Amino acid sequence: MNDWRKQADEAKGWLHPAEGPALYDHALKVANLGPLCEIGGYCGKSAIWLAAAASDRQSVLFSVDWHRGSPEMAANRECHDPDMVDAEGMFDSLPHFRRNLYRAGFEPWVVPVVGNSATVGLWWQTPLAFLFIDGAHDADGVRADYELWAHHIIPGGLLAFHDTTIPDINRVARRALTEGFDLVEQVETLQILIAQ
Ligand code: MG
Repeated sequence: MNDWRKQADEAKGWLHPAEGPALYDHALKVANLGPLCEIGGYCGKSAIWLAAAASDRQSVLFSVDWHRGSPEMAANRECHDPDMVDAEGMFDSLPHFRRNLYRAGFEPWVVPVVGNSATVGLWWQTPLAFLFIDGAHDADGVRADYELWAHHIIPGGLLAFHDTTIPDINRVARRALTEGFDLVEQVETLQILIAQ
């Protein structure tokens, strides 16, 4: 196992061991066509896999996350982690994200966009070769991410959804199949779709 794979393995996050390599393999196929983008960066686990593809193809990964955590990461919720709380008592995953990308050697290929995906999405204009939606996991959040971001994917580009076993997310992924996307592969909870 080389260093960046070890770093991805050790980074906190919820990717199944088969999902990281699947992200990498698919992103590698399209990274020469344009930039990659992920919604939901957290501690950089998926960003390391996507940045590996970006570096192999001289592309770039935009990682959009406000880094204040999702509702399920708040104190007393199921995904809370006290390591993520800063000196002000605020949730902050950005230092962990930067450290993991630095350790993996991929900082030159990753642009952290620190902001709410809904706010950034309103102003985003750059066409994307690959979009990974793994931000808010509630119905309104995932629908907003899909509606604001998926139309930026170029024809032949890829759209990936994480956690498609969650009904609200699965519903949006199925909707995408009726709106110009075809299913390429499902790996664990990861669905990869291609834009027509
Ligand atoms: Mg996820």
